[in-house]
Amino acid sequence: MHFHQLVHQPQGLQQLRQMAATDRLPHANLLLSPPGGGGLAAALAIATLLLCENRQGEAADVPCGACRACRKTAKYIHPDLHFAFPTIGSKTNSDPFLPQWRQALKEAPYLEANDWLQRIGAENKQGNITRDACANIIRKLNLKIFEGNYKIMLIWLPEYLGNEGNRLLKMIEEPPEKTVFLLVAERAELILNTILSRCQLTKLTPPTAAEMTTALSAQGVDAERAAAAARLADGNFSLAGSLVENEAINHGPRFLTWMRACFQGSAAGLTAWTDEFSKIGRENQKHFLRYALHFWREFLLLSVMGNADGNVRLPANELESARKLLPLVDHDQLAEITTILSECTEHVERNANPKILFLDAGIRIHQILRRPKPQAQPAS
Ligand SMILES: [Zn+2]
Repeated sequence: MHFHQLVHQPQGLQQLRQMAATDRLPHANLLLSPPGGGGLAAALAIATLLLCENRQGEAADVPCGACRACRKTAKYIHPDLHFAFPTIGSKTNSDPFLPQWRQALKEAPYLEANDWLQRIGAENKQGNITRDACANIIRKLNLKIFEGNYKIMLIWLPEYLGNEGNRLLKMIEEPPEKTVFLLVAERAELILNTILSRCQLTKLTPPTAAEMTTALSAQGVDAERAAAAARLADGNFSLAGSLVENEAINHGPRFLTWMRACFQGSAAGLTAWTDEFSKIGRENQKHFLRYALHFWREFLLLSVMGNADGNVRLPANELESARKLLPLVDHDQLAEITTILSECTEHVERNANPKILFLDAGIRIHQILRRPKPQAQPAS
């Protein structure tokens, strides 16, 4: 991964890049960025720069891409670049999963925790970074440097260390010479304080919708489609990519049809919609629910702030529908509806029967919508 391949160049990353180029990077770094926001990709770019044997550019901050080290880091097989990440099963470390890990980094460097756990077949199992993985980290860092200038330990999602993280404290505090820790996290509050306090924290802002649109367009995605996915993904480039693939950005019309059926509350309408919806598959159902929650979030923004500065991220026709819904849905109703939708997301994750789940949700939303203004009708 090279810097120019990243979706965006947040300010914090520029500072890390400069320090890496001048060999002044602290030995323990924590990169914090929301899911799909590019923390992992950024850490890979820094590792590539640190290990390059022939740095280019005026500031020596561009890896050459051609030296022995660059050829190996490009495949994530450099012997001085070590990885630790969540896995499943309590008696394993990261090593048996390295082939899948390298594949994931090549295909999806903006990987999210859940994407990764699905890739290794976690289904509903919790991932963790085990005691054995910690022992493995320490063992690897006690080895001599094989061929690079540095030994790098990239720990993806230290949130999953739990209390085992205490085993790493001494190593993080006083690592062997030329050792650099790159910890990449999504949620600082889930990391042991003892680890946090030993790392230099860099917060990386996620890419904007415009930056993601540009990146998706560069991958050959139609501009309008790219913009719709980017708007919906809210700084999560992994999600933006999957939205583009999953047709999910067309969920707007389906969502409005459902809301109309909920409003009218006819058993035939709700059943017909639910039957159709149950056929689109679990992934699309999850995307649909993300869209539905996005719609209501933007609806709330519209109701509180208006849209004078165009900050409501909905396409024109859905924005129009949101405007028509304004007099019909108050904030209490909104809170209840979004709770139902969030519950649906959890149930879909757990493989609930979609016909029962969404028919029930539709009936409950109908009851909520019809409470205060029974005579009104939402227009399309
Ligand atoms: Zn190089």
